[in-house]
Amino acid sequence: MKRGFKASAVRLALEIRSEFGLGPTGPFDPYAYFSTYGIPVVGISELEAGVSRMLSDQSRDKISGALIPLGFGFLVIDNDFHPMTRRRSTAAHECAHHALEHEFAASISAEQRACGLGKDQEAEADELAGELLIPSKSAKSHAVCMWSDDDVAEAYGVSVQFAEWRMNANGARKYARAVQRRRST
Ligand SMILES: [Zn+2]
Repeated sequence: MKRGFKASAVRLALEIRSEFGLGPTGPFDPYAYFSTYGIPVVGISELEAGVSRMLSDQSRDKISGALIPLGFGFLVIDNDFHPMTRRRSTAAHECAHHALEHEFAASISAEQRACGLGKDQEAEADELAGELLIPSKSAKSHAVCMWSDDDVAEAYGVSVQFAEWRMNANGARKYARAVQRRRST
């Protein structure tokens, strides 16, 4: 990850959220992002029902999502067999690749938060996706207010595992503990 990327992801995520009328708190909708940027989303279930058997039953587990260049634009493949919380984090990852203008032939998320575009681009997309779904600023204030990972997951429409990652990765829980120590002395 480039130096200073984390700080720019914080700013970029807040800018993108504000384009959608959001402040630092509340759930971000990656599907609204796709719609605004004219990116069609196709569910794997639609592909299976219609055009092709290319994606067999196995793909339900193997593929989380994909961002595919198509002419001058993009197409998103969405694994609609996955729970919505997981789909939202995969979709936010694909939004991040798009917003960061990463260049690729196709970004396929084979597992949650990993689609093989190379370490730097993957790390950047994860970081921006995290900031889009739960900005660091909000993670800190929720940690200070003693929100559990479940509370955060519920409020932001993500899995508990994702909430836990956001509440720890950027030091929100650590920050809250320091604040509490200061208050109690
Ligand atoms: Zn990726």
